[in-house]
Amino acid sequence: MAFSTQKRFIAGVTCPKCAKMDKLQAYSLDGVDYRECVSCGFRDEMRVFSEPRELETRVNSAADLPENKVSTVKLVDPS
Ligand SMILES: [Zn+2]
Repeated sequence: MAFSTQKRFIAGVTCPKCAKMDKLQAYSLDGVDYRECVSCGFRDEMRVFSEPRELETRVNSAADLPENKVSTVKLVDPS
């Protein structure tokens, strides 16, 4: 999900800093999405929508985790 480089208000969203509603604008800069509060100046990078790499890592570690956990438990239990 990529926003336009033109700032747009996000309706119904509360600013995490000043807690005012409908003050956040979303825009995209150099392929990165930002949200910015016009009331207090708060700005945040929105990584959630633009990092497929993170999803890949999650899938890989999910596949690896059960085995690692089992061997760790086996080593710990006898001692
Ligand atoms: Zn704010």
